[in-house]
Amino acid sequence: MPLFGTNGIRGVLNENITPELGYKFGMAVGTFYNDSSVALAHDNRTTSHLLKNVAEAGLLNSGKNVIDLGMIPTPAAQIYCKLNKIPGIMITASHNPPNFNGFKVIAKDGSNPGKTEESKIEEVMSNGNFNKIQWNSIGKVTTGDAVEPYLREIIKNVKEEVIRQRHFKLLIDCANSTTLVTTPLLLRRLGADYVSVNANSDGFFPGRGSEPTEENIKNLISFARSTKFDMTVAHDGDGDRAVFLDERGEMIDGDKFVAIVADHILEKKKGDLVFPVASSFLIDKIAEKHGVKVIRTPVGAPVISETLTKIHGLMGGEENGKVILPEYLNGGDGGLSLALALDIVSSRGQDISSLIKSVPDYRLRRIKLPLRADFDEIKSKIKDQYSKMKADEIDGLRLVEKDNFILIRKSGTEPAIRLYLSSMNQEWIDSREREIKKLLTV
Ligand code: MG
Repeated sequence: MPLFGTNGIRGVLNENITPELGYKFGMAVGTFYNDSSVALAHDNRTTSHLLKNVAEAGLLNSGKNVIDLGMIPTPAAQIYCKLNKIPGIMITASHNPPNFNGFKVIAKDGSNPGKTEESKIEEVMSNGNFNKIQWNSIGKVTTGDAVEPYLREIIKNVKEEVIRQRHFKLLIDCANSTTLVTTPLLLRRLGADYVSVNANSDGFFPGRGSEPTEENIKNLISFARSTKFDMTVAHDGDGDRAVFLDERGEMIDGDKFVAIVADHILEKKKGDLVFPVASSFLIDKIAEKHGVKVIRTPVGAPVISETLTKIHGLMGGEENGKVILPEYLNGGDGGLSLALALDIVSSRGQDISSLIKSVPDYRLRRIKLPLRADFDEIKSKIKDQYSKMKADEIDGLRLVEKDNFILIRKSGTEPAIRLYLSSMNQEWIDSREREIKKLLTV
């Protein structure tokens, strides 16, 4: 089994990841890259200190200097690597439960390394051909500040003065983790007042689950509904994602949020967009308006990033609200999303809910169904049932009719099917859901 999953190496301490593995990982990263220094950052999980220290020992023993960036969000570490053109290691398990942790490589341009780069590092780990140094040429450990340059880079993408004049009042939820060192500073810089929850560092994540799902943030939602804020933001553990609530405390649909961001970005600059097949046709409407193309990819942030690099795309995104602006960083960043949300609201002079209402009402329903038969059989059954619709197999099976679509994919993590239905017509979605559920249980 390959060591690297879609987002680095992840597992539970002394079950599937060990201190020995962390040491080897540090050695392998130090051996693979020719650079003299490697940046090292971590989140605040209970095991992060341990894993950071063993990775650091591996880097030192392979002859590298280590720049310790401390406890910061993943995108802050990525920006540091990009600005300094050095590779890095991030110790985090993103939005996984607190018993998990993991290792992520950061490439010299700040992005996630490509599959070939990862498999070469993996090869060094398994063959054990590590660089080893003499006692008298051991590198140094120094500390580096990634927070200040991160905030500066974010703010370059927005109109700081216009945002400051609006004097936003926000509710923020830092998930007891990394964004508590950056989001309050970012908001102060942007002249916003805020009330913060889960903004104390605690590796047990006592406040809520680390992934900002509607279920996990239900207490935040009731707080936002009972109080007056211009907007609410909830981060994930390592800060590469953010979800938003409008001024009434209603959750903002990620699919619509990225569309509004795309519209805003395209007003300033033209370029093609990269979105997965799971995003609705709303993004095509926005692209059409600005005379640019949408390139569709399979689902998942790594393939979106790769495609953005390949086609020199302007922006990528996902229906969960993830925004990728490769010129800034070829990866998601909740801090950037937050700054862009404030930029859009302040420059358009409307509440966020009115802005969301102003775009065509494409709805996207996501349903998880048990996988009871061979996936190829299921695909052909659905294809037969909807033979008049246009089919593509970019990821699973997508069937398109005007701007409605059915998408079915096999889950990568459990025996389940992910069904996506999108249309501007609620009735169309309801009928397809009924039909497909019936078809799959027969
Ligand atoms: Mg994350």
